[in-house]
Amino acid sequence: MRFTSSLQAGGSPVTFRDALFSGLAPDGGLYLPAERPDLSRLLSTFNDGTSFTALAAAVSAALLSPEIDGEEAARIAGRAFPFAPVLRRLDGSILLLELFHGPTCAFKDFGAQFMAACMEHFLAGERRRIQILVATSGDTGGAVAHAFHGKANIDVVILYPSGRVSELQEKQLTTLGGNVHALEVAGSFDDCQRLAKEAFRDRELTRRLTLTSANSINVGRLVPQSFYYIHGLTRRQVLRAAAEAPAAPVVCVPSGNFGNLTAGVYAWHWGLPVGSFIAATNANDVVPEYLATGLFRPRPSLATLSNAMDVGNPSNFERLACLFRSDRKAMSSVIRGESVSDQETREAMREVFERFGVSVDPHTAVGYTAARRYLSEDAGRARGVQVVVLSTAHPGKFLDIVKDAVGSVPELPESLARSLSLPKRSVRVGRELAGLSRFLLDSFG
Ligand SMILES: *Cc1c(COP(=O)(O)O)cnc(C)c1O
Repeated sequence: MRFTSSLQAGGSPVTFRDALFSGLAPDGGLYLPAERPDLSRLLSTFNDGTSFTALAAAVSAALLSPEIDGEEAARIAGRAFPFAPVLRRLDGSILLLELFHGPTCAFKDFGAQFMAACMEHFLAGERRRIQILVATSGDTGGAVAHAFHGKANIDVVILYPSGRVSELQEKQLTTLGGNVHALEVAGSFDDCQRLAKEAFRDRELTRRLTLTSANSINVGRLVPQSFYYIHGLTRRQVLRAAAEAPAAPVVCVPSGNFGNLTAGVYAWHWGLPVGSFIAATNANDVVPEYLATGLFRPRPSLATLSNAMDVGNPSNFERLACLFRSDRKAMSSVIRGESVSDQETREAMREVFERFGVSVDPHTAVGYTAARRYLSEDAGRARGVQVVVLSTAHPGKFLDIVKDAVGSVPELPESLARSLSLPKRSVRVGRELAGLSRFLLDSFG
């Protein structure tokens, strides 16, 4: 599969490798698949006996060959995914697809791990070393740091705002060591982002280093996010129940920047039977508003309990708009938007705990609320329709919020507990490029 810029649909396509290492297209657009592969035959061969790694290998080979052949795809998938999604049925209509069993306990591990494994694969054949530079407000940096930790020929430099990330997030960034370098910036997240941008534009740095970004719009993160939709929707638990329902399963996606939902829509576009999608947002409802009115009005984000979804200008909307040729009616026939308040989010955490004995994090709770709303709107629908809610983070990552809502503390997964017990190691830098620049040249120049 090759990729073209969202700003130039007919433009000349680039390889996966080029899109992977450049992140953004040279004209500033996002890379989109230039072709529409039909995977339905392949998908119909998957069943409960297909491991997630085998599925990821087969789908990536189908999408990325001849650039990545079957053997290489199997090696990449094997390295990227020592963990898998887990389906958990709540009742006759709702299932959770838990995506938090990776090293940092959130779904971003799927994208980050695959991107890192692909970069390592391509670099092994070239004699060069690259430096990944990422700014983080908390969660993304942790997933990226863990994904690249120990990868050959790659150094990772994470910029994070001093004193503005949670203790757990900071530990996930600063305790790995080795090729992972955490720089603590005396400033805000915006300062971190600006510093990264300045570094990518700086003449001396770009001459002496091979700086590469790894942010959420990278195709190396988008492609693998389609794998868990395919995995979830080819399991017998979902299929058998859906066979008795009037339509294919509905997938509900807690959304912020819309990278997760976009990957699901691609999976559908490539042949995965999905009835429809629910885009569940918190009060940051730019996309639900567009779906209802046709007006796309980006605005500053509002702070909510589900803070990884506090996005006022979702960048992946551009990809969705291209896929549906900016036809709002076409998009809203496949995706419905639901915006959920903090109050509803708290109530959902309590309800899921009381009815099913399951703790969910606030992002998953937004998805659960949207799914319930969808089911309750139409009694006919409630009979048989299966809604798969993506569970995007482990509740232990949001201890205080979950404890407040349900009255008991969720258990902390072992990987998080281990990070917390290790000593923090970071280098402090100021808000000016000079400090970052000196660190980069001294370390890798
Ligand atoms: C990033 C994130 C989201 C939002 O995903 P998008 O791809 O940005 O829509 C939802 N939940 C959690 C826990 C996240 O970390």
